[in-house]
Amino acid sequence: MKYKPPKFKRLSQMAAIDVGRLTEDEAREILEGIRWPRGPRCPHCTSKRITRLNAKSDKVRDGIIQCNDCRGQFTVTVGTVMHRSHITLRQWVQAFYSMCSHKKGVSALQLQRNLGLHSYKSAWHLAHRIRAAMKEGPFAKSLKGTVEVDETYIGGKPRSKKNENKRGRGTKKTPVMALVERDGRAFSKPLKKVDAANLKSAIREMVSKQAAIMTDEWPSYQGIGLEFAGGHGVVNHGLGEYVNGDISTNTAESYFALLKRGVHGVFHHVSKQHLARYCHEFSFRWNFRKVSDGARAEAAIKGAIGKRLTYRKAGM
Ligand SMILES: [Zn+2]
Repeated sequence: MKYKPPKFKRLSQMAAIDVGRLTEDEAREILEGIRWPRGPRCPHCTSKRITRLNAKSDKVRDGIIQCNDCRGQFTVTVGTVMHRSHITLRQWVQAFYSMCSHKKGVSALQLQRNLGLHSYKSAWHLAHRIRAAMKEGPFAKSLKGTVEVDETYIGGKPRSKKNENKRGRGTKKTPVMALVERDGRAFSKPLKKVDAANLKSAIREMVSKQAAIMTDEWPSYQGIGLEFAGGHGVVNHGLGEYVNGDISTNTAESYFALLKRGVHGVFHHVSKQHLARYCHEFSFRWNFRKVSDGARAEAAIKGAIGKRLTYRKAGM
């Protein structure tokens, strides 16, 4: 019997080996299916009356679609983080899949090798565009139920001089705050300063007023319970207490453990400037941890639509 590769319609059904053998046309079909599940729509005027231009002609760019109403032309990448890049669609799909399937992330060097990209720089830009796609919109905020809040310190130069990079609060590393629903979603971001104003404003912005807040004994959190129906549970780490009945920040600590293994183990050095994007990446994977790698990649590609301005502004 002859071997025939399986034909998948959806990325969510595919394993890495299947993604690896996609042709450029198949990759385009997958992207179009995710962007327009009910058929292409003109991004200029939203019309559904479209014509596919002759793909066989050398003069016509692959995948060009023309709108019958406004006569505008477009492809599936218009207005997404993939727009105007020299990377092929099969490389984009593979890159999304790869960044979505590795728990601790993938370095730009690894992406460059795996995808056969010509330079480290283009792999680096590609990865940051995908991180922009992974950034959750404001609609995704409002964490509910029991929300654990904690901070940690990430990065910094190697510990050469005495005390320069000592651990804990009050070091030169970058403070990162995480807000994690117990058995739910996570959000994290770097902070300029770990003080009551910054911590509390992030909690107010991100957490539903019905939730219960769990933190350690850090004084900057004091008083936050008055603003939330579930109140404020405090676990006293200074006294060696990690769980007190229902009160703990263990979920937030698991989140940080993963973020640190990625940032230190895979990416080695992440500058303060870019740390927020790695936070988006790790939160994204955490929030979609219960679905298949392919479904996670589909979700990231959906997030790529309409994010172009974000990365332009960010200077990527
Ligand atoms: Zn149109």
